[in-house]
Amino acid sequence: MEEGKIRDLATFISSAKSISVLTGAGISQESGIPTFRGADGLWKQYRAEDLATPEAFSRNPTLVWEWYAWRRATISRAQPNAAHYALVDLESRFNGSQAHSFTLLTQNVDGLHERAGSRNVVRLHGDIWQLRCPSCGTERQDYSVPLDPFPPRCSCSFLMRPGVVWFGEPLPQREWERAAVAARKAEIFLVVGTSALVHPAASLPLLGKQNGARVVEINPDPTPISRLADLVIRGKAAEVFGAQWRENQRTANSN
Ligand code: NAD
Ligand code: ZN
Repeated sequence: MEEGKIRDLATFISSAKSISVLTGAGISQESGIPTFRGADGLWKQYRAEDLATPEAFSRNPTLVWEWYAWRRATISRAQPNAAHYALVDLESRFNGSQAHSFTLLTQNVDGLHERAGSRNVVRLHGDIWQLRCPSCGTERQDYSVPLDPFPPRCSCSFLMRPGVVWFGEPLPQREWERAAVAARKAEIFLVVGTSALVHPAASLPLLGKQNGARVVEINPDPTPISRLADLVIRGKAAEVFGAQWRENQRTANSN
């Protein structure tokens, strides 16, 4: 693996005062949660992109809910991995000091960052465990697998929808603003496990770069971020943040 580069990342981080991280589905892949792109054929004959739209939901809410129920079941069996935990450690190192800041921006709706212990998480695309009523606006957390009744209904009798951001929908405004602030002030902008194809989230690393951040990408495959990155680590997230990373951090902490 890319040992020298992992050391370079540790060195970058040890000299930085602010770090922002953008994660995507790839960080949860080694936890057993399939990514969207590249996971074709895993779920019936549909493409995830065709199910994650408001139009798909009005056309066939049961089909869309079947897809989310399948994802909820998969996620409920999954555990955070070494990459999620490494970000928890970084946050505790950075946010323990007033002069430092750490912000985790995630496109994931699985909640694994929070389950691992991350606190300062900006959820750009919502939460798969939240249900929302499109009619009266009621929101509630519901962790049940399977859902009962299925598909879930609001007390106002309308069908609930998943509390996630679909294609064609705007990002929640407060989260977007926090993300833009974090991108601008980052000295290191770490991008882990995203295909960087879905905007506006995918434009955050560029915003960081334009404001002086060093961009580091961790992904086994090339993405549009690779071109602008100062350091590219071609590997899987949990492997990159495995034993060698922990050893580097232990030494950094004891210095
Ligand atoms: P993605 O599936 O588009 O990309 C995953 C990326 O992770 C790829 O670049 C892949 O090379 C990389 N990867 C795979 N395994 C990895 C590993 N072990 N370690 C590190 N990287 C790994 O996922 P995305 O970038 O998060 O997609 C962006 C957004 O697209 C999502 O947040 C979601 O909002 C949206 N989307 C949603 C749906 C849906 O049904 N809700 C469907 C499609 C896309
Ligand atoms: Zn309602």
